[in-house]
Amino acid sequence: MSVILDPSRLTIHKAHELLKTGQLSSVELTRACLERIQQVEPKVSALVTITDRLALSQAEQADRLIASGDSSPLTGIPVIIKDNMCTRGVRTTCSSRMIEDFVPPYDATVVEKLNGARAVIVGKANMDEFAMGSSTENSALFPTHNPWDLERVPGGSSGGSAVGVAAGEAIYALGSDTGGSIRQPAGFCSVTGMKPTYGRVSRYGLVAFASSLDQIGPLTRDVTDCALVLNTIAGYDPRDSTSVPCPVPDYTRCLSSGLGGVRIGVPKEYFVEGMQSEVAAAIRAAVSKLEELGARADWGVSLPHTSYALASYYVIAPSEASANLARYDGVKYGFSYSDTDNMWEALEKTRQYGFGPEVKRRIMLGTYALSAGYYDAWYLKAQKVRTLIRREFDQAFEKFDVLVTPTSPTVPFRIGDKAEDPLQMYLSDVCTLPINIAGLPAISIPAGFAGGLPIGMQIIGKPFSEETILKIAYAFEQATDWHKQKPNI
Ligand code: GLN
Repeated sequence: MSVILDPSRLTIHKAHELLKTGQLSSVELTRACLERIQQVEPKVSALVTITDRLALSQAEQADRLIASGDSSPLTGIPVIIKDNMCTRGVRTTCSSRMIEDFVPPYDATVVEKLNGARAVIVGKANMDEFAMGSSTENSALFPTHNPWDLERVPGGSSGGSAVGVAAGEAIYALGSDTGGSIRQPAGFCSVTGMKPTYGRVSRYGLVAFASSLDQIGPLTRDVTDCALVLNTIAGYDPRDSTSVPCPVPDYTRCLSSGLGGVRIGVPKEYFVEGMQSEVAAAIRAAVSKLEELGARADWGVSLPHTSYALASYYVIAPSEASANLARYDGVKYGFSYSDTDNMWEALEKTRQYGFGPEVKRRIMLGTYALSAGYYDAWYLKAQKVRTLIRREFDQAFEKFDVLVTPTSPTVPFRIGDKAEDPLQMYLSDVCTLPINIAGLPAISIPAGFAGGLPIGMQIIGKPFSEETILKIAYAFEQATDWHKQKPNI
């Protein structure tokens, strides 16, 4: 017997209950998501590829498994994957002309894990080209629109993943986060998004942007779902030498409502100049709420090196990107300019036409910062600053369990507003970049609205303290209803 369902209101844990008790089948749920995609996609443009046939066959298999009583918490539940994670037989574009037709011969480890859990993949999500951007406007294919206001950006670079969850196209999504690309769009779309500790989740099969910063994580409708997805994707992988061989706890076990004894630091540097006053006010109110729940907050914390994080990120990330993107030479795979018999011209034109303007800007910045004579002044110095920032966090975590900040300095901005001004665009990540620089875990959860537009709160923890972060996020979520509000689309 089936229930009448609106896939935009279901969580993973609720869907799992309905599937297990036979009130809903995975095929019905998958069809509902595919219908929702047909309805909203003309407005939001979140997906590069809709994998409807794959989804329905995975759903049928899931239903058979559920009937035999052998299901996992993710079995039969629709997911969207950011288009920089390799999916065997399904094209993986990174929203770039360069690899628009690339069909990977293998699955990323996270995709393999989701398939092992019998998830249902309904589509691949639009993103800023090669994950470089904060608005999804840098997609070479098309921009994605925020379901809370279609004239505004959804954030980026995992904009398609966040919109897919917020607009009900799937129950959850995977994104990647190099400087904020899961948390910032989660904040802009009022969903939950977590960047796990560097090394917690394998990046094998994630198209590399900046390898010392990249991390994969979940975008979900609530904190419980975030824990469930993390349970499945986390863990050591011999194919990613940076993944860490420490055991994966059951992240749902830490979700309880009291916050007695929890120590929270609120670093003042994250309330930056130019921050929208409603955003600062919402985060202050959210911290007061955490205090009401039993936590102790120190409002006077200072992390003075924060102001150097943006500059060091924009040396380190482009440097690594310039090396990672050297492989797109038109020879091995991807777009290839062939209208010449001159090898050098073919290489230059391949890169000239295959990459968009932001990607080229990063390659040039990175190549410059790494070049002989400039390396010490730029790259090496940025790495030293990185160490200082990391140490400062280490010291703060001697006194606090978590740090709480806004996810972004503003609510979602209008499409086009920052597209011509890279520096303004870069500034929208000031609150999230330092966390990648230090390799820490952090979550963004819904914490309010200003003029009908979402505000996200960021909770940052020490390495491998995802449980503490999830516990605090869960307690806040249970005491508020921001996460229950849905865009009217
Ligand atoms: N917006 C930042 C950048 O453009 C972060 C992107 C990301 O996290 N992938 O580099």
